[in-house]
Amino acid sequence: MATAGKVIKCRAAVAWEPNQPVVIEEIEVAPPQAGEVRIKIVATSVCHSDLYHLLESMNKDGFPTVLGHEGAGIVESVGPGVTEFQPGDKVIPHFLCQCKECRFCKSPRTNQCERAWTRVRQEIMAGVESRFTCKGKRVHQFMGTSTFSEYTVINQIAATKIHPDAPLDKVCLLGCGICTGYGAAVNTAKVEAGSTCAVFGLGAVGLAAVMGCKAAGAQRIIAVDINPEKFEKAKVFGATDVVNPKDHSEPIHEVIAGMTNGGVDFSLECVGNVEVMRSALESSMEAWGVSVIVGWTDMYDIAIRPRHLICGRTWKGTVFGGFKAKDGVAAMTNAYLEKKVKLDEFITHNMALDQINDAIELMKNSKCIRAVVEVSPP
Ligand code: NAD
Ligand code: ZN
Repeated sequence: MATAGKVIKCRAAVAWEPNQPVVIEEIEVAPPQAGEVRIKIVATSVCHSDLYHLLESMNKDGFPTVLGHEGAGIVESVGPGVTEFQPGDKVIPHFLCQCKECRFCKSPRTNQCERAWTRVRQEIMAGVESRFTCKGKRVHQFMGTSTFSEYTVINQIAATKIHPDAPLDKVCLLGCGICTGYGAAVNTAKVEAGSTCAVFGLGAVGLAAVMGCKAAGAQRIIAVDINPEKFEKAKVFGATDVVNPKDHSEPIHEVIAGMTNGGVDFSLECVGNVEVMRSALESSMEAWGVSVIVGWTDMYDIAIRPRHLICGRTWKGTVFGGFKAKDGVAAMTNAYLEKKVKLDEFITHNMALDQINDAIELMKNSKCIRAVVEVSPP
């Protein structure tokens, strides 16, 4: 490629400050260094975790940044020592790494990668290093990814080469939300055939959790959201019952206990709200329920009575649905190509990079499931 080894100037959506619209700017993207790949991003979608950083946590140290961590693209060039990728490969970047060599990667107990812990600073949701500059300033790479940019540089342990037939404007969803929700049900909760489940929050993450519960053979899947516009989609993914907490005067866990003779076997919180996390736990059967926190927040503590766990409930959390990143992304891409998991049904809007603020507004107002943004032509 003519651009290999050179700085690329390209368009990216820069978030200069918290709680402000992002701005399409020309940025400079440095060539990949040892162990890195430079990727032309073809498509990206917006996930609630982008909004969390921009509009909710608003940690000033995490700005300026280029958001976006749910994308797919094509390798433009590779840095020294990279053998796994070649220019032209289709890839999905991911915020979670899999080096396959550290003690975490070698353990079946976790999908964390020890090397990732030195690469991403959780408190500012950015990679330790960045290959971006704009107007003379260093710009963070959100979660080490930054898919709201025509080009980005990713460490080779944070990207997966995918099947050449995969449509990038669909499989971009596998970079975060869909693997997260699906895996939360299948890998973390370990939903059992014939079981009863409740999923709180019916964005893409929650709908993917519904899809995971169904794939695991759940007999009853109760989908919970305060926005009734989400219910029709929930049924497409396998929900058998829908509940709007606003339609009930009693607490939602009592409603669910009444529907299920004491509580569900598995519950999944896919909102990112500590009150809902507690409700989800209390909605699970006191004697054996398993409840999984999927929604993200780092701003509040959760209150809970010890009794709610003592009698037998298990409370868990999940990152990226418990999938080891490379293995999970490759397997889920193949499952989509084999029509074993749905992706198209999550996409409610298709937009251009110039419309990225509209995509953010849609999610803020709960008016989309996933808006897919075309970043560069394939
Ligand atoms: P989204 O905004 O599209 O969906 C959230 C849904 O929750 C909406 O449908 C909204 O109406 C609903 N909701 C809001 N308040 C509610 C309440 N009180 N009760 C029931 N439903 C309520 O978001 P998303 O992209 O699907 O992401 C969901 C969450 O998952 C976010 O917190 C996101 O940051 C998190 N997330 C976590 C991981 C992880 O690895 N753990 C990965 C991706 C996303
Ligand atoms: Zn995400």
